[in-house]
Amino acid sequence: MNKIQAIRGMNDILPNETPLWLYFESTVQRVVGSYGYREIRFPVLEQTQLFKRSIGEVTDIVEKEMYSFDDRNGENLSLRPEGTACCVRAADEHGLLYNQQQRLWYKGPMFRYERPQKGRYRQFHQFGVEAFGMNGPDIDVELIMLTARLWQELGLTAHVRLEINNIGTSADRKEFGAALVSFLQAHEEALDADSKRRLGSNPLRILDSKVPSTQAILADAPVLAEYVSAQTKAHFAELTDLLDAAGIAYIVNPKLVRGLDYYNNMVFEWITDTLGAQGTVCAGGRYDGLVEQLGGRATPGVGFAMGIERLVLMLQELDLVPAALTQVIDVYVAIGEGMGAKAIALAETMRSALPALRVQLNCGGGKMNNQLKKAFNSGATHALVIEADEQGQLSQVKLRQLGDEPTTEQVPVNELLSKLKQHFPNA
Ligand code: ATP
Ligand code: MG
Repeated sequence: MNKIQAIRGMNDILPNETPLWLYFESTVQRVVGSYGYREIRFPVLEQTQLFKRSIGEVTDIVEKEMYSFDDRNGENLSLRPEGTACCVRAADEHGLLYNQQQRLWYKGPMFRYERPQKGRYRQFHQFGVEAFGMNGPDIDVELIMLTARLWQELGLTAHVRLEINNIGTSADRKEFGAALVSFLQAHEEALDADSKRRLGSNPLRILDSKVPSTQAILADAPVLAEYVSAQTKAHFAELTDLLDAAGIAYIVNPKLVRGLDYYNNMVFEWITDTLGAQGTVCAGGRYDGLVEQLGGRATPGVGFAMGIERLVLMLQELDLVPAALTQVIDVYVAIGEGMGAKAIALAETMRSALPALRVQLNCGGGKMNNQLKKAFNSGATHALVIEADEQGQLSQVKLRQLGDEPTTEQVPVNELLSKLKQHFPNA
């Protein structure tokens, strides 16, 4: 019988990797917590309409990438392709937005039917942050600084660059889009197929094209910067002043447009060269019209999402995984003949007294020598040998420090906890 395998583009995250994921996630949670952000959780399934109305009917995500289906009731639902629309839906539904300020974060799986490749999957994970009720640019800078702090903590600062752009209001973009289309129509024959298709649906995305011949045509195209309104220009100028004052380096990339329709004004991406083509590890911007567009009362918003797979890949490829992450046991307990119940009890006492100590019991018996081999292979720094004395009692245990030159101490049972505290002062 052939075995059932995982769905293409959907990854299992195995125990060797979960410590790194946990390390990444707990670091981000600590950083966003230090800015006062609070977690929100929402379902992975929503009405398809939510994404059509927010991300936009003619975006790649909605046109070709969503996992949509009719449920048994005939309602059209989609697995969430991103979190911002869901976050707005949830926050507004529960009255968190109107006349309030909110700083929120979320994390979890997202689903897009894309061609799987390195850094691009069909189920992937994002860590996202959304801030509501603040017009910026102070809050915009806060979000950027928060991400910069995260790169610092993870050791990634030298490997990422910040690109920003002002994409204006949606009215600005409409006007620019019309100018761009009439310019590109004159070169339509020379455009790549994707760009030709976008000419009629989403012309701004053509700016993003990676095809060199298309990029060559774009060299003389109208530029968005000449179409953005004075008000967004002022916002952007203040933003760059604040970034300068904070000492955060950035590149203004006039071709940076995002693939989601709800963005306006300031957009940004953190990009790396270490992952090849899938270089954007964090992307976001302002979406001041989105809440209203989804039926709420007008509320300014700004946010970003990070691709966790890409950041985990970066940490691995740059050798930035802390060595301690691979060690998951501190003490391996080897158990002599007839000592099973006593060993279980002693291990429980150890876990109660030293809550951070990681204690693993040898299960399944075996010769003492084999148990010690297992202790060595477990990665534990210490083995605890529990054997009966001549009277068949447990009076002493052996605490063996593993490693290249193992040393062994005889420890009276009633002194074991204080001895362990000496060896593991942080447990
Ligand atoms: P890209 O240009 O790489 O397709 P995007 O503009 O579609 O990215 P967003 O929707 O802004 O991406 O999502 C934010 C982040 O989520 C991206 O910068 C990336 O790190 C990550 N991401 C997006 N799509 C995928 C995917 N299919 N697989 C893995 N990570 C992804
Ligand atoms: Mg994409």
